[in-house]
Amino acid sequence: MLFVKRIFHPVGQGGFFTEELRYHTAHKKNSKKRTREVFRVAYDCGSVTSKVALEKQINTFENKIFDVLFISHFDTDHINGLKYLLTKCVVEKVVLPAIGHDEQIRLAVMYSNNKEFSSFCADPAGYIRRASRNGEGTKIIFVKPYTGEGSGEELDLDEEPSSSITTIDSGRIIKKKNLSLPWVYIPFNFEGENRAAEVAKTLGSMGVSIKTGQDLKNYLDDPNPKVKDDIIKAFKKIKGGPNTNSLTLYSGPDLDEQRQICWLVNIESKNFFHSCSRNPACIYLGDYDAGGGRKWRQLYENFESYWHYVGTIQIPHHGAKKNFNEKLCDNTSMFCVIASGLDNRYKHPHPDTLKSILNSKGMPILVNESDHSICHFEIRSWVRQK
Ligand SMILES: [Zn+2]
Ligand SMILES: [Zn+2]
Repeated sequence: MLFVKRIFHPVGQGGFFTEELRYHTAHKKNSKKRTREVFRVAYDCGSVTSKVALEKQINTFENKIFDVLFISHFDTDHINGLKYLLTKCVVEKVVLPAIGHDEQIRLAVMYSNNKEFSSFCADPAGYIRRASRNGEGTKIIFVKPYTGEGSGEELDLDEEPSSSITTIDSGRIIKKKNLSLPWVYIPFNFEGENRAAEVAKTLGSMGVSIKTGQDLKNYLDDPNPKVKDDIIKAFKKIKGGPNTNSLTLYSGPDLDEQRQICWLVNIESKNFFHSCSRNPACIYLGDYDAGGGRKWRQLYENFESYWHYVGTIQIPHHGAKKNFNEKLCDNTSMFCVIASGLDNRYKHPHPDTLKSILNSKGMPILVNESDHSICHFEIRSWVRQK
């Protein structure tokens, strides 16, 4: 039996979602002695409306181990709790989208008024390992942008990666092989627009060469403020925010399972409702733009064979209308979790998003910074005897 506890934490405008997989391992083959084990995962860790609420939720895991932390994209509301999490807990592996040197520079300049965040964008791996209480022990896994081809290979989390920083293809199945029932994580980094040419042109026109995070730091820390101002001004002309890349993630049963497994999902949102489902998987979408056309197709086609397991969707971009697609809740009674601040300046979620979810018989679940909005999923599973 495998027991999964999935929590959408009440942190406000941002996201902090965790899963604990509880299972037993036998000491020796045929031995009756079993040890209870926990495998713990988080997706995103940030809030721009309540740092207090976020830290309160992180504190519930104080000194515990996160086997994997997935980061959707480099935006303050999704990662401004990263440093706190890395110091309060032990984080073994961080999986994040590989974004390319040019995009790193663009984001670091964009956030140059926030030193902490700018240094993360300039060198994410270095930042994580400096902040982590696990130091160099925290392994970094970058997920390459999707190129149109999936990756059939599996990444076994019990095997030590060959290097402390590795890069994997989008669609690589991440699995812990010694679980009692098969559960997988599949990340896809769907890149938005690539701005490498624009960044190169901008730097070229200023006669500036930035090859490393340190080069960039030197320019931004230049005692002559004009240097920094000129760079910022030039980069402002490049359109686009931080949402261009978003690591989307499937968390659920493996397709590669011959046995018949029954799943029962118990959903509880404190004070609001209590419900059940038989679809245990969740797709986390960060701030992905699922709105239409190519972006919707690449999302759907890549997760298509898993879609029948999906009972929960983390609605992208806090329920913004532009990022939503009603096809996301085509399965009847899809649980649609929307994480947004009670009082956020973007007025998320958009009423049309809520209307669409209800029209397709989905169940919107609003998670904000109020403690009562916490939403628990408890997933039980067992092998059906013939
Ligand atoms: Zn974002
Ligand atoms: Zn966001």
